[in-house]
Amino acid sequence: MTEEKKDDNLMEKIVSFCKRRGFVFPSSEIYGGFANSYSYGPYGTQLKNNIKKLWWKKVVQERMDIVGIDGPIMLNSKLWEASGHTSGFNDAMVDCKKCKKRFRADHIVEEATGKDLEGQLEAMTKVLKEEKVKCPECGESDWTNVREMNMMFKTEMNGYYGDVYLRPETAGAIFIEFKNIIDSMRVKVPFGIAQIGKAFRNEIVAGNFIFRLREFEQMEIEYFIDPEKDWETIFENWTIFQEEFAMALGAKKEDLRRYEHAKEKLSHYSRKTVDIEYRFPFGFGELFGLAHRGDFDLSQHAKFSGKKLEYFDAENNRRFIPHVIEPTFGLDRSILLALLAAYREEKLEDDSERVVMKFPKYLAPIKAAIFPLLKNKPELVAKAKEIYNSLKMEFMCEFDDNGNIGKRYRRQDEIGTPYCITVDFETLEDGAVTVRDRDTMEQKRIKIEELNSFLKENLK
Ligand SMILES: [Zn+2]
Repeated sequence: MTEEKKDDNLMEKIVSFCKRRGFVFPSSEIYGGFANSYSYGPYGTQLKNNIKKLWWKKVVQERMDIVGIDGPIMLNSKLWEASGHTSGFNDAMVDCKKCKKRFRADHIVEEATGKDLEGQLEAMTKVLKEEKVKCPECGESDWTNVREMNMMFKTEMNGYYGDVYLRPETAGAIFIEFKNIIDSMRVKVPFGIAQIGKAFRNEIVAGNFIFRLREFEQMEIEYFIDPEKDWETIFENWTIFQEEFAMALGAKKEDLRRYEHAKEKLSHYSRKTVDIEYRFPFGFGELFGLAHRGDFDLSQHAKFSGKKLEYFDAENNRRFIPHVIEPTFGLDRSILLALLAAYREEKLEDDSERVVMKFPKYLAPIKAAIFPLLKNKPELVAKAKEIYNSLKMEFMCEFDDNGNIGKRYRRQDEIGTPYCITVDFETLEDGAVTVRDRDTMEQKRIKIEELNSFLKENLK
């Protein structure tokens, strides 16, 4: 995460917009809030579901080589020993003895001295104490020793001995079903297993709205490949896929960049790791990740479970442990991107202003709003309700008869509704309605019986 900023206020605007218009609420607010957690409101949930649907369509539905699963959040703890999370999934933390605030030690050290001492606990303690690094909160310099903190949330389960964890990533639940997928689905390498679901990380510092959450959602694929065949092309294709997906959410190409992890910083088993970063208002931040993980995961799970996790290539009569390429997509970050990219303040010809969320139409929470021109004309209201009742069977729609038409347009612009449909007196004569476009604000007459196909065609 770095430097470059665009609109300084954009993030604040989005946060307050999201609360005001039912996209995202700070959670537990009536109890004074809770730990940087958020609830998706009615429109935010629609947006989230539409992003998941888009991803699932592109990843599972449209491809022959990927199947989807939905695994549990709590899993056999041996899995986390095998994956290295029990011992190695740590952040270095340090507490200020004066104000009792907790920090990521490596962040404090790097900000104060420019030194990257990640993973070196004693060296960080030494720097903090000897160089009298000041606490960013209270300005004093009175530190505890730097300690490691495991980032998994621990819980207990009746009838199960030992610790149970909330999964820190969705990947684990995929790897342990590798054998079941091979046995039940007749898949052939290369193939992938996809999953969307929650993951939990006990981050010391959460923040930047829904960018870094302790409870978050991932869309993840484990893509299994033949270790003896070319992996670079497959890797590159996934990188392109991730960039295209970001653009399908509304990102401009120039706001995306690839960040390749330095070879010496990679885990021993990884051949390549690339993050797709997006230019958030607070700087470039990781949106998606892509890692070549070798056969580390399957080998570890085979070792810890005692089960063979191999693939049999019948054509060449050979057995092998596939290598894996892992594309990960942060769902909450995808939502944040979609919100930031869609937000516009526009000055109109009559000098009035509007806020409009220019979501790609397939992501818009509400697809069409249906209005009777006048609230107090029962025949208009009845006709508008009839249209609403018919369209809602297929599309997420709203009915609104409150206030003048201009105000109703503004309300729908703000939540990004692509089409507003108005029933007026002419409708009763000619069976047509006025359809107004969110982006161009142009209006045209469309026959009621053609509305369904019009929307279908234009919401792609
Ligand atoms: Zn302090």
